[in-house]
Amino acid sequence: MTSYLRENHRSLPAYVPGTHEEGNDVIRLNTNESPFPPSASVLEAIAAESTRLNFYNDPDCTDLIQALSRKEGVEPENLVAGNGSDQVLQLAFLAFAGPDCPIVLPDITYSYYDLFAVLYEIPLRRIPLREDFRICPADYSRAGGMIVFPNPNAPTGLALTRAEIAGILEANPDHVVLVDEAYVDFGAETVVPLIRTFPNLLVVRTFSKSGSLAGIRLGYGMGSPELIADLARIRNAVDLYGVNRLAQAAGAAACRDWSYYAQNCRRIMDSRAHVTEALGRLGFTVLPSQGNFIFARPAAVSAAFVKEKLSERGILVRHFRGGRTEDWLRITIGTEAEMQQLVDACRDLVTSGKE
Ligand code: PMP
Repeated sequence: MTSYLRENHRSLPAYVPGTHEEGNDVIRLNTNESPFPPSASVLEAIAAESTRLNFYNDPDCTDLIQALSRKEGVEPENLVAGNGSDQVLQLAFLAFAGPDCPIVLPDITYSYYDLFAVLYEIPLRRIPLREDFRICPADYSRAGGMIVFPNPNAPTGLALTRAEIAGILEANPDHVVLVDEAYVDFGAETVVPLIRTFPNLLVVRTFSKSGSLAGIRLGYGMGSPELIADLARIRNAVDLYGVNRLAQAAGAAACRDWSYYAQNCRRIMDSRAHVTEALGRLGFTVLPSQGNFIFARPAAVSAAFVKEKLSERGILVRHFRGGRTEDWLRITIGTEAEMQQLVDACRDLVTSGKE
């Protein structure tokens, strides 16, 4: 660290992503990606667009926004795109929170929120999840800052209902409520219909999970036209060309081919039900997830041990060390064959496992 680095940034916590290993002998169940490749029409759109990479991209993402508008049943004015949903989240933090407007969030949640808050010098108010790992909506009445949470939450996979979120929106008319719907396509109830009623609602989505496009970096926000105009103002100041040509073309094609992706989501949800049951039979406690991952606690052996042993067999899962997550593993739902390998490996570990 040099002496030039600003004092505030010295305490920036390092975000620890899931280990990045790829290859035929590695099963990646640690970063909540889709195990399914993009559809043929998306690959064709990317190839066609690549011949025009000498030209700047459309900063307004016109075609993508049109396609999203049709897919989501909202107006183009309700939409803004970003370079991954992480960028949309950052823009929202920049736009709607600050030293005098804290971020209010669950104590166990997507850890990147913390990082953005430190970076932008925004105070954080953490609200503990209940004993059963659920968010208690009543804890967010008059929160006194911008509220941020994923629905379903990560890494627990537990979701609030639309009615519960409407209650939070009603109780906080003076602040933005950001609902991060990164995993909503795997069974939770979307709050998009509420954007007509609540001018303080911002819904954030990503193509990285259900859309099989984690590597292209594409996300979007939905909200009232005024809220979206505020976000676009910040986006245009920070990163006007942030959504590159390939991402725009791929995203538009994916929207137009969504039945392929919806089908993949159904496969993941079926697989999730099977794995939840199979691990349950092996003594694991598995929360009822509505994401493309499960949060599971092994019984006789520690989570750290299971993670290590799985990793030796080329199966990568996520373990968040310390506190209430110490005993738990977050396991992404992969293909049916990958999940069978995971269950078989876990069976070996719990039957023969000695720490
Ligand atoms: N929100 C949540 C809750 C996530 O888990 C993730 C992915 N790690 C993101 C946002 C970021 O997604 P993207 O790839 O679109 O930046």
